[in-house]
Amino acid sequence: MALHFTSLNSGSNGNCYYIANDTEAVLIDTGISCRETEKRMHALSLSMQKVKAIFISHEHSDHIKGLQVIAAKYNLPVFITQNTYKNSGLTLVPTALQWLKANETVQVGNLHITAFPKQHDAKDPHSFVISCNGITVGVFTDIGIACPHVIQHFCRCHAAFLESNYDEDMLENGRYPFYLKNRIRGGLGHLSNKQALEIFTTHRPPFMSHLLLAHLSKDNNDPQLVQQLFENQSLQTKIIVASRYEATEVFTIEETTPVVRRKIKTAPVAVQMGLFD
Ligand SMILES: [Zn+2]
Ligand SMILES: [Zn+2]
Repeated sequence: MALHFTSLNSGSNGNCYYIANDTEAVLIDTGISCRETEKRMHALSLSMQKVKAIFISHEHSDHIKGLQVIAAKYNLPVFITQNTYKNSGLTLVPTALQWLKANETVQVGNLHITAFPKQHDAKDPHSFVISCNGITVGVFTDIGIACPHVIQHFCRCHAAFLESNYDEDMLENGRYPFYLKNRIRGGLGHLSNKQALEIFTTHRPPFMSHLLLAHLSKDNNDPQLVQQLFENQSLQTKIIVASRYEATEVFTIEETTPVVRRKIKTAPVAVQMGLFD
């Protein structure tokens, strides 16, 4: 079974990421309106009927703006930590709430979703990895630093949404007040292009086929600059800059499990032969 994914929107004006296999889908964050989510999915021939659950990374409004309406309209379970919910200011139907816990895998059909803690100035922020039949997609945005958790999960992803929020010189020389500059780059804010590139070049696995640069700042970054920066080091990985104005196309990674299974089957035989030689 293949894994399909797209960014419906990415940036401080709203984040919503769609990840699916052939039969079910999940949304990671719902930071654009329900109507806009539906419109963008329809344009990509994706159906909300296939979406079986919503996962929320943290309570900042660019990640939850559309949540109340979407969850109610489609009667969807919302996986969210208790602390994030408490600080979200939202009121969801109690039956919709599913308490999310770090490092516990949630199964939605054949999709396996695991949340893990990240460094960001929210109450209880988490990133996600979504796996199905040996394929893993990661969603890593709103991260102040590349903590060991991020690296541990990034290096097992076939595709990753990775924050590349700001160019360090543009932020330094830009119009933001000093306190805001320090909030962004202070370790609990966002990842710079340089930090994201360092994660990619140092920790990408050889099988990473897609890298989607996400949550780019409108004022302190330039999509073309990011595209170029990462393409220069891309090797076999396709580089996509997720937009803050429109959805990306839907990308697909075909299942790799049959190859892996064959390898696993032959391994014990080889080991046994080695033992008795
Ligand atoms: Zn954000
Ligand atoms: Zn945030």
